[in-house]
Amino acid sequence: MPTLVTEESQSQITNLKPIFCASGVKGNKVTTLSSEVTISDFIQSIIKTKPTENDSPFSVLDLRVIIDLMNKWTTELPTVKPFYAVKCNPNISLIGTLASLGSNFDCASRAEIESVLSLGVSPDKIIYANPCKSESHIKYAASVGVNVTTFDCAGEVEKIKKWHPKCELLLRIKPEEDSGARSCLGLKYGALHNEVPELLKAADMAGLKVTGVSFHIGSGGADAKAYHGAILLAKEVFETASRLGMPKMKILDIGGGFTSGSKFDEAAFNVNDAIKTHFGNDEDLVVIGEPGRYFAETAFTLATKVIGKRVRGEMREYWIDDGIYGTLNNIVFDYAIVKCMPLRFGSKPENVICKDPKTYPSTVFGPTCDSVDTVLKEYELPELKVNDWLVFPNMGAYTTSSGTNFNGFSSSAEHIHIACSTPSLVGR
Ligand SMILES: *Cc1c(COP(=O)(O)O)cnc(C)c1O
Repeated sequence: MPTLVTEESQSQITNLKPIFCASGVKGNKVTTLSSEVTISDFIQSIIKTKPTENDSPFSVLDLRVIIDLMNKWTTELPTVKPFYAVKCNPNISLIGTLASLGSNFDCASRAEIESVLSLGVSPDKIIYANPCKSESHIKYAASVGVNVTTFDCAGEVEKIKKWHPKCELLLRIKPEEDSGARSCLGLKYGALHNEVPELLKAADMAGLKVTGVSFHIGSGGADAKAYHGAILLAKEVFETASRLGMPKMKILDIGGGFTSGSKFDEAAFNVNDAIKTHFGNDEDLVVIGEPGRYFAETAFTLATKVIGKRVRGEMREYWIDDGIYGTLNNIVFDYAIVKCMPLRFGSKPENVICKDPKTYPSTVFGPTCDSVDTVLKEYELPELKVNDWLVFPNMGAYTTSSGTNFNGFSSSAEHIHIACSTPSLVGR
């Protein structure tokens, strides 16, 4: 196996210093990977050096992925300020890296605000983007100077007037189109078109400033064209506010719904085009976005150990030590379709990636005693043994943030190894 750190990557370390010294990252071991080392090689090296330690399941966070995605964002959406949606993955090293790259943050609760502030991020880089907040959390936001939030009903105006009257408001609207997203946030949030004038008036009467509009087209696989329709709706709200004689709005918050890869190019094209079409001559406009999945999804890889096996005819059934109550809860809550690849450990001392041609329709169960805890069904896998490993790529979005300790099993959130690959590795 190639060595993990090369001289070439030593020189990179100098460039990466601001990130390695960022709060949330500093104090953690970061393994810099040379260009010929894959994340899977790195996982094997972890397994090899710590076979007896109780370190499974674990995740690998690749800081390079975050750096590259931030570069891509600023290149393709140069006028849109990113506010990372913390709920997607609140891992402190991820948040710290994003902060050191200049990101702002979308927080939805007191605890999320606290964790971002604990990294030394200024409160004016935080938007409290939860349209329905409890009074105690609003009071907390006021006390720490988080002064922008969203709302979509009159009840929220009352609470904000009472506990945080200096807070600026963005009216969250419900996008019209069904964007085809896996997770449709419009089912819960967003003012309807005909509710907009009354809500604007209610905020105005309460003496609150409505400075802009927000929306979310839905998370995971949304049609990029949905940004177009939603930005047009937002423009109409800007116009309604002007018609009502309210101060000119200036913030357009286009929410999340981004994924990395080629879908991002399409989304960026639609966003830029819609802004140009509908807000082209508005020089004071501030556009912000709230990407969650975009930054988190591909940055984490999950490694789980095969802890049990049953053979029934051709069928192979395996138990692994993480499941749908843990990191893999994205299968349930995020409608994720996961894929995995086997790493041999128990059966071959060399830890070679298994290339056996023969595969079996396999079921992969999580560790809890609930039959719902099934990760994969009829998934073709080579013959595995107890103590082999299954590695799941793209496991950073809506995974560790919503796992539980049901039945006494912990998730990979407890063991995170930080790596920084070289640029050529991204996408492997
Ligand atoms: C969840 C959420 C996001 C992040 O959505 P992604 O699709 O993961 O980018 C952004 N904004 C708000 C208000 C959210 O609730």
